[in-house]
Amino acid sequence: QDDSLEKFMDWVAERNPGEDEFLQAVSDVAEDVFPLYREHEDWQQAGVLPRLAEADRIISFRVSWEDDRGKVHVNRGWRVQYCGAIGPYKGGIRFHPTVNQSILKFLAFEQTFKNALTGLPIGGGKGGADFAPRGRSDREIMRFCQAFMDELYRHIGENTDVPAGDINVGRREIGYLFGHYRRLANTFSGALTGKDIEFGGSLVRLEATGYGLVYFLRCMLGNCGSDLEGKVIAISGAGNVAMHAAQKAVHLGARVVSLSSSKGAFYCKSGIPVALIDEGLEHPGSSTELLKDMSRKCSGEWYPGERPWRFPCEVALPCATQNELDENDARQLVNNGVKAVAEGANMPCTAEAVRVFRDACIPHAPGKASNAGGVALSGLEMAQNAAFTSWEQERLNQQLLDIMQDIHRQCVADVQRHDGYLDYHRGANLAAFRRVASALHAQGI
Ligand code: GLU
Repeated sequence: QDDSLEKFMDWVAERNPGEDEFLQAVSDVAEDVFPLYREHEDWQQAGVLPRLAEADRIISFRVSWEDDRGKVHVNRGWRVQYCGAIGPYKGGIRFHPTVNQSILKFLAFEQTFKNALTGLPIGGGKGGADFAPRGRSDREIMRFCQAFMDELYRHIGENTDVPAGDINVGRREIGYLFGHYRRLANTFSGALTGKDIEFGGSLVRLEATGYGLVYFLRCMLGNCGSDLEGKVIAISGAGNVAMHAAQKAVHLGARVVSLSSSKGAFYCKSGIPVALIDEGLEHPGSSTELLKDMSRKCSGEWYPGERPWRFPCEVALPCATQNELDENDARQLVNNGVKAVAEGANMPCTAEAVRVFRDACIPHAPGKASNAGGVALSGLEMAQNAAFTSWEQERLNQQLLDIMQDIHRQCVADVQRHDGYLDYHRGANLAAFRRVASALHAQGI
């Protein structure tokens, strides 16, 4: 099944019918690494590539919970333990009505390579449920988290699988999940990351994905002799990643002109005042309400139904969700003179959009490289938990910076410059694949 790239992808497609996101993620990696794979007879003998196209295991379970009126709801939950070759499975939990097995498989696949790039001993996993938290009360969220953990707890553990947050799973949900895990498993351990500081969490974890993204972007710009000073940055999303990326970018001298939600975009040509971003971070809740409120407090405007990509910018940071930026958006960005794109979300650019950036020689960092700061800090939270200690902010921030710089170095080291163009996408895939493939090969079949 791995004689040629085409045969390989046909084989994967046959085994995963209708799982578009998963096929997109596998083909993205396979296209870049196939020539390298064919050079390594030992990897081929060990069937490394076909093995990486199958999750180690997928756990699927029913989650039944009661709403505030006593009505019972039924959802589906999953944990995809994708690849445990370089460490315990590690990756977030996502609650969203659109969550399905294909989406979690693609996320867990991506996570495997992202985690490899961090240099830390963490394998790839992802979990979630097709639960819609919008409009649910705090008690309902708590009961859902507890019902979800009733099933999940037997499959996770500090040395087995260590979930964290993702879309709609933040510090509140991690608190409820951890509390229930601790009671069910009768152990206080670091089986989840993203915990509050009071019960084993790490400083800098909350900010890490967004800050790490901007550190990575700074490396990208530095590589072509530029920096963040005065750069006009468009950001999509208004969650933890988008808001912290915006905050750090402004601190480092950039002008952030947009944020968005699924309902529209907020655009402020003169730059979103940092005080509004700080204030927004203090008030988690509906992104749309937050952005509408921001637009009332500054010279910016709320554009219902719009996305940020139509407004001119020099840097685009898609930080919302998968496939949010399509071919047309990419064309528009290129026509408007975008100079760099770095993904804060996982796979936010469609395959066609990636091609547009590649063809136009626009440096484009895939999420598995540029948003790895979050899981890297999770790895450091695990290290602190295992050593029964906690580290200081300065040390952790420096470690985050070092890890992002190292990921950038790995991406650059693995690709040739063609006419001055650095293919980050390919660089990240090659560097990550080398590590995972070597580990799989070394450990036998
Ligand atoms: N959900 C985040 C990601 O996509 C963080 C995962 C973690 O910390 O385990 O990388």
